[in-house]
Amino acid sequence: EESAHRRGDKKVVAVVGGGLVGALNACFFAKRGFEVEVFETREDIRKAKVVKGRSINLALSHRGRQALKHVGMEDKIVSKGIQMNARMIHSLRGKQTPIPYGKRGQYILSVDRANLNKELLTAAETYPNTKLNFDHKLQDWSAETGLMTFARPDGSETQTQADLIVGCDGAFSAVRKQFLRRSRFNYSQTYIPHGYMELTMPPRNGEFAMRPNYLHIWPRNTFMMIALPNLDKTFTCTLFMPFEEFEKITTGDEVIEFFQKYFPDAIPLIGAAALRRDYFRLPAQAMVSVKCSPYHIGDKCVLMGDAAHAVVPFYGQGMNAGFEDCIVFDEIMNKFNEDFSAVLPEYSRVRVPDDHAIADLAMYNYVEMRAHVNSKWFIFRKHVDNLLHLLMPKTIIPLYTMVTFTRTRYHVAVERWHWQDKVINRGLLLGAVGAAVGGSYLLIKNPPDINRLVITAEKIWNKMVALKAPPSVGAASQI
Ligand code: FAD
Repeated sequence: EESAHRRGDKKVVAVVGGGLVGALNACFFAKRGFEVEVFETREDIRKAKVVKGRSINLALSHRGRQALKHVGMEDKIVSKGIQMNARMIHSLRGKQTPIPYGKRGQYILSVDRANLNKELLTAAETYPNTKLNFDHKLQDWSAETGLMTFARPDGSETQTQADLIVGCDGAFSAVRKQFLRRSRFNYSQTYIPHGYMELTMPPRNGEFAMRPNYLHIWPRNTFMMIALPNLDKTFTCTLFMPFEEFEKITTGDEVIEFFQKYFPDAIPLIGAAALRRDYFRLPAQAMVSVKCSPYHIGDKCVLMGDAAHAVVPFYGQGMNAGFEDCIVFDEIMNKFNEDFSAVLPEYSRVRVPDDHAIADLAMYNYVEMRAHVNSKWFIFRKHVDNLLHLLMPKTIIPLYTMVTFTRTRYHVAVERWHWQDKVINRGLLLGAVGAAVGGSYLLIKNPPDINRLVITAEKIWNKMVALKAPPSVGAASQI
């Protein structure tokens, strides 16, 4: 039996899960001087030959960067990221159109998940008061005593006790299981009908096959593919589509046929032979959205990261939100002098509305992306929003900007977005009515040639009909 002991009067904090959020959180707790023990199911990924993870790369933005900065890791991670200044929309005909993420100089970063995880584990290990325990799978734990039971690869079990258990063990959290047995714990999980599959686009003549400083998007209503650049000059393409569509494709020829129909420009870039092979390498992966509350039990346990809130990946915020959890917790620790019995309830009170807001936003984006939205209206509104942001930078801030480039609380960003939307739509309506009234007045004063009027009306009508046409580039441009 292993037993964590207190050295001096510092409490023992057990971080369950050494993924992205667990490894970062270990640094936060170590920095405060706690005795930190990390327990991770997998072997040490820094020594492993193959690293299984949820995606090969991901988009890091402001919230995540701020959290890394708190533990002195921002520069190290950013230096190994690739700037993405805009989305690059690929039309069916292969035309590429950039849509910037924000103002000049605002970008998100493509980072390698495995490398980020390794760097964070190494950073955690540099604190003398931190111990990493790999090959430890949490089986069960007690909310009364803080006693945890772990399964080891050889089939044996070990037990350890901690003052605080921090559940960072991902969307299928074992720590969370205890919460489910308790009264007044709210929980919901939703699997979306879409799955995802990753495909690699190799370099071309030693260079990136597409322009590197973009997040490439092929929006095709129900289907969508995105591609993020890697340091080795490859792109990781992620194909999102309903499981039933994935299952319809059963032969190499059908893969090519499918790509020919929806992503023809990607075939030569990924390579027909690779496509035929790689499509069948791994089955499509599921995506789940998990919401729960509260995030704590007494003064003993708290959930963070995907364990508390798994979100669908259509806003690029899952990890960023999990990283921000660590800062929010840290801020509350300062406020309440590290008194767990005060910090934990306050953390739930403050953080639940924000994590629920980003879960909803991500799901909203997923639904919007597939709906037959009036794409030109979306793009028009995006331009209007951006223009207004330039004119009134403090009053009108696009939702994407608030979420991605600020630490505006997620739920506040959503409220503000609804308010702005109302104001802007009213403004546009008022503008339209004003133009109509003004136009009528001019018409009455100078009656025009009736034939020309009919032709103009017809032209306007045709333009309006054209505005209604899909595909829904607009919603995908939220990514
Ligand atoms: P995880 O990364 O899942 O780590 C959990 C860890 O706990 C793992 O190491 C696991 O082995 C360990 N563990 C599990 N069970 C136990 C147990 N019983 N005992 C001990 N250890 C255990 N987010 C972004 O911000 N930007 C993006 O661009 C983005 N893209 C994404 C694309 C895809 C396709 C997907 C699926 C997700 C994406 N995300 C993105 C979300 C992001 O991957 C997650 O939010 C992030 O990985 C959460 O980190 P975590 O540490 O909470 O959980």
